[in-house]
Amino acid sequence: MFHPEEVIFAPTGRCNLRCAHCRVRRDGPELAIEAAVSFLDSCSAAGVERVGFSGGEPFLRLDFVVAVTAAAVDRGMYFDRLMTNGDWWATEASLREALGAVAEAGFDGVIGLSYDAYHGQAPERVAAFMAAAYEAFGRQDAVEILSVRSPDDEAFFRGLEAAAAALGGRLEYELGEPSRIVDDAYLTRSESDPDDGSALVAQVVRSPRSRSAEEGAWDAERWFADDYCEGPGNVLYVHPDGGVAVCCGFANERPQLIVGTVGDAVDAIVAEAAARPLVRACYDTGLAATRKRLEAEGVRFPGRTGDACFFCDYLCKRGLVE
Ligand code: SF4
Ligand code: SF4
Repeated sequence: MFHPEEVIFAPTGRCNLRCAHCRVRRDGPELAIEAAVSFLDSCSAAGVERVGFSGGEPFLRLDFVVAVTAAAVDRGMYFDRLMTNGDWWATEASLREALGAVAEAGFDGVIGLSYDAYHGQAPERVAAFMAAAYEAFGRQDAVEILSVRSPDDEAFFRGLEAAAAALGGRLEYELGEPSRIVDDAYLTRSESDPDDGSALVAQVVRSPRSRSAEEGAWDAERWFADDYCEGPGNVLYVHPDGGVAVCCGFANERPQLIVGTVGDAVDAIVAEAAARPLVRACYDTGLAATRKRLEAEGVRFPGRTGDACFFCDYLCKRGLVE
C-alpha cells in the first residue's frame, strides 16, 4: 500500500544543464513558497516528516529552498537529500553565499550531487562545489554523489578521480565501479568509530539508467521481479506545477501517477492513490501480476524488460492501466 514517508519538492523544471537523458518538463508554472509551506503542515499532520528537494535544478529557486527549509525546521521535520547538479553557479563567492544561506536556514540533510557521464560537469567545478559544501555545512561527508551508469564511463571515472585529487582525497573502486572518495584522515580511523564529519568521505551511489517508454527497454532475458517501488517509492513528489505524484521514479509525470495537488490534504491524496488501479498494481498487487493478467487478456509486449519502472511507464503511455 502506498504510504508516503517523505515529501520531495521540485520547485522548478528549469535547469542550467541539458542532459540527454533528462525527462523533466522545463516550461510551465513554478511552485509557490506559500503553497509548499501549507502542504508541509498537512504532511506533518499526516506523519510525513522527512523533506527533500529535487527539480529541475532546485538552486535556481534558492528563495524556495531557503524558505521551505526554514519552515520545515520550524515544524520539527527533518531532511533527506537536496539534489543538485552542482554546476549552476557563476562565481565561487556566489556559490558559497547560496550554500551558506541553505545551511543557515537549517538544512542538515545530504547534498545529492548528480554527477556522471550524462551530466558531464567539469571535474574542477565539481571539486569547487564539494569544497564549498563542506565549508558551508561544516562536514566533509555532506555530499553524496549519485551517478547513473553509461557505456561511456571511462572519461567520467577519470573526472571523478581528478575531482577526488583536487579535494585532497582519492577515489576508491569496488568491483570495478567507483564507490567513494576518501582521504587519509578517514582511512586511518577505525570505520566502526562514529565519524565526526571532519574527514573526507563522499559515497558514490551508482545506478542503472532507466529507459523511457518512448526509448524501449525490451531486451532483457528475464522479466523484472516486483519490488513494490522500493527506492523511488512512498514519497509525495510535488511537481513545479503543484501536481503530487506517488514516487520520484522517472515515470512520475504520467497522469496515472499524479494523485492530487499541493492544495489537497495528504489524507485525501493517500485515499486517491489507494483508488488508482496503476498505483495499486505498483504498490500492492504487483506489476508482475498485472503483466500476466494483461497477457492473459491478449496484450502482447515487444519483449521482456528487467526494469519495473520502465514497465510502469509503458503501461501509462499505452493507457493499459488507469
Ligand atoms: S541536471 Fe537534472 S534536471 Fe538538469 S538537465 Fe540534467 S537531468 Fe535534467
Ligand atoms: S514502478 Fe511506477 S510508481 Fe513505482 S517507483 Fe517506478 S515509476 Fe514510480
